[in-house]
Amino acid sequence: MSEVREMTIQFPYKRSLGPVVGAFMTALTEQRILGIRNGEQVICPPIEWDPATGNELAHDFVDVGPAGTVESWSWVAKPSEQHPLDHPFAFALIKLDGATTSILHAVDAGSIDAMSTGMRVAPRWKGTRVGHITDIDAFVPGEASEVAGDDTGPAAEPVEMMDYNASIAYTLPVTANELRAEQANVEGRFLGLKCPKCARLYTGGRGFCPIDAIELGPADEVDLPQKGVITNYTIIEPVPYPGQTMTEPFARVMVLLDGADIVLGYQPTIDLAVTDLHIGIRVEAVWASDAELDDLASTAEGRLLGWIPTGEPDVTDPDLVNRIY
Ligand SMILES: [Zn+2]
Repeated sequence: MSEVREMTIQFPYKRSLGPVVGAFMTALTEQRILGIRNGEQVICPPIEWDPATGNELAHDFVDVGPAGTVESWSWVAKPSEQHPLDHPFAFALIKLDGATTSILHAVDAGSIDAMSTGMRVAPRWKGTRVGHITDIDAFVPGEASEVAGDDTGPAAEPVEMMDYNASIAYTLPVTANELRAEQANVEGRFLGLKCPKCARLYTGGRGFCPIDAIELGPADEVDLPQKGVITNYTIIEPVPYPGQTMTEPFARVMVLLDGADIVLGYQPTIDLAVTDLHIGIRVEAVWASDAELDDLASTAEGRLLGWIPTGEPDVTDPDLVNRIY
C-alpha cells in the first residue's frame, strides 16, 4: 500500500513598499497609474533608481495610461491557482500611454484569436482596491477603463505595506514503510529496520540498507529503544512570524538511542530547562495519552511529546558531541 499526500508550504510576510512603490500602490486605489520621470523617460511601474546609472531618481511622478498598447504577449491556456485569472488569458507587456517602458500584466481578451501585438487595452479595475498590482483585475481590449463590481473608492491612508504569501503546493509519495513507521508512532513505538546482512539498525521509514543496497521490509522490522543520551542540541530563540506559537527559548536535541547506532535529530524536550541543557543527559521518550492526543496539533513528531530526563547519571563519553547523525 502506498499513497500520495498533498502538501503546501507557505511563507506569509509583510513587505514595506518605500516612497516610490508606495505612491504607485496608493494611486492604484484611486484608479490612477503612476510612472516616474527619468530625464526623457517615464518609467512605469516606477522604480527608485535610474536603471542605467543607479542614481536615485527624484520623486517626479506622472500619470500614465490608463490605456496602452500591447508590445508582446504570451497566452496562458491552462491557468493554475497562482495565476491572476481562472480562465485562459494572456500575460502581456503593455506600454501605457505616456510611458516609455512597459508593464507586465494580464490581458483578459476571451480567446487567443483576440490577442495581437499592437492591440489597444485599458484596465479593468477591481471594485475594492487595497493598494496592490492586482487592483487592476486585468487589462481588456479597447480604450475605456472599467470597474468590476461596486466601487468602494480609494484607500483611506497611503499604502505603505504589502502582504505577501509565498506558497508552494506539491505532492509527496508516501511509501509503505513510512506508513508503518507512522502507525508505530501512533502506537507509541519507534519502528526500526534491521538489515539481515550487516545487522545495522535503521529508522523504520527508510526501506533499504544503504551499505548492502538491499530492500528492507516488514520482515526486518524491530522496535527501537525508547531511551538514549543527548549528543548535541540547539536552543532556538523564537522570533515572531505567522504561525509561530513559541514565545520562550526552547531546545531541539539529538538523541543517540541505547544499543543502536541511531541518532534521532531535532527532538523536543520535556521538563528540561534550556539553561540546564548539556551533552550527556540521559533521556527517555514520552508519548501523548489518548486524552492529550486530542489537544495535539499535527506535528512532525506525531504522538511523541518529547524526551524527558531519566535522572540517571550523565554519559561522559567525549566523542558524544560528534554524534549528530
Ligand atoms: Zn546492511
